[in-house]
Amino acid sequence: MKIFDTLTREKKEVSKKKLKMFVCGPTVYDNSHLGHARTYIAYDIIAKYLRYRGYDLSFLMNITDVDDKIINRAAETKKDPKEIAVQFEKAFMEDMKALGIGGIDKFARASDHMPEIIDQIQRLVKKKFAYETKTGVYFDITKFAEYGKLSRQNTEELKKHRIEPDATKKNPHDFSLWKKRDKSELGWDSPWGFGRPGWHIEDTAISEKYLGSQYDIHGGAIDLIFPHHEAEIAQMESVSGKKPMVNLWTHTGFLLVNGEKMSKSLGNFITIKEALKKHPAEVLRLFFAMSHYRSPIDFDENNIKQAKNTLDTIYNALVVLENIEKGPGEDVESEVNRIKAAFIEHLDDDFNTPYALSSVYELVDLVNKYASTGKKISRDSKELIEATLLEMCGIFGALRNYAPVKVTEEIRKLVSEREAARTRKDYKKADAIRSRLEKMGIIIEDTKAGIIWKKKS
Ligand code: AMP
Repeated sequence: MKIFDTLTREKKEVSKKKLKMFVCGPTVYDNSHLGHARTYIAYDIIAKYLRYRGYDLSFLMNITDVDDKIINRAAETKKDPKEIAVQFEKAFMEDMKALGIGGIDKFARASDHMPEIIDQIQRLVKKKFAYETKTGVYFDITKFAEYGKLSRQNTEELKKHRIEPDATKKNPHDFSLWKKRDKSELGWDSPWGFGRPGWHIEDTAISEKYLGSQYDIHGGAIDLIFPHHEAEIAQMESVSGKKPMVNLWTHTGFLLVNGEKMSKSLGNFITIKEALKKHPAEVLRLFFAMSHYRSPIDFDENNIKQAKNTLDTIYNALVVLENIEKGPGEDVESEVNRIKAAFIEHLDDDFNTPYALSSVYELVDLVNKYASTGKKISRDSKELIEATLLEMCGIFGALRNYAPVKVTEEIRKLVSEREAARTRKDYKKADAIRSRLEKMGIIIEDTKAGIIWKKKS
């Protein structure tokens, strides 16, 4: 399979079977929003797919629980920074669970890795890539000739970026590894005095500990390319003397609102918790999967509705399939296998989820074609279609509520009685039948795609 690498700007073949992946985690100072969900769902799909394809994946995510944003939020709310970090880390974990994001083998907090962070800075100082001043310890970018290689910026372009002014630094763009701070603030003792680490060093100290100085995949959204990932490369490749730090740099496109990044600072966000009150997780997941992970996505309720309709159509196909007459009938094995091969081909090509979804629709069409022509289908074929549909949708984290509904005569009768009641606008009766069905563990939903029946989860 091939994955696009931001550093070389080309798709690279993944030849190893054992893969180590690090994805930049959240800064825990507030509730996460849908922009964060866009990135974490993308990596969840990537992880699910890699494992589905037989890769032995170790997936590590850091938690930035030491950061100025946390300290500022603590000051605003008159709370302890640690309390803020604990509160929002818990909220983040709840959001991830609610979104069906799993499979991250290890979460690692910056605050739990101070010895590793300090040790990495010490090695950088010893190798003369970093230096100490009155205000802290800084990475000397002139010592790393390739600084700018990921974001493809030369020295002149780098100068255009806004920087924190500090007269003690050798070069304005040298970035901070350790910030000296007053004892009254959040901090740790270090060889350079009390203080706290810079953001970039937290991640390389953590990734070095668990994945080593060289590993396979590093991820995050596109805004992290510069300065964060650029700084990570400078730190890690300088300290280890080994190149490349990672084989594949991957970056997700933004979730946009009216053309701008959904973000806390712009105030144009909707939290994951709010979004989940309106839409089931699998609808949100499908909404994101309808775009390629590297593409920007416009936040648009109409497109979310479209994702909901698509999902209904898929659920409906399963119900339709259940009701197609089985018996000695046509065998569709080769057709299903062809569709599945195309699905894999799309995802093998840098996780092309929108194309892979078109294979899912093809399978749905196949089911509907059988239903509309009244042709019988063999029991094996029916089982193969059902299993394939569930397998494919499982990669996107969809069809989570599906369980085959055994349609008994009694259920069939109740459903048609309910339909008749609805047609004559006897909604009281229709609702009563719906509740009766619910008690039997069956949920009836009226959708554009028709009635779908779900087993109560
Ligand atoms: P933060 O907690 O702000 O450090 O963000 C955690 C991750 O979510 C990073 O990889 C960010 O780049 C990513 N992220 C934040 N906002 C968005 C957005 N609007 N769209 C996509 N990813 C985002």
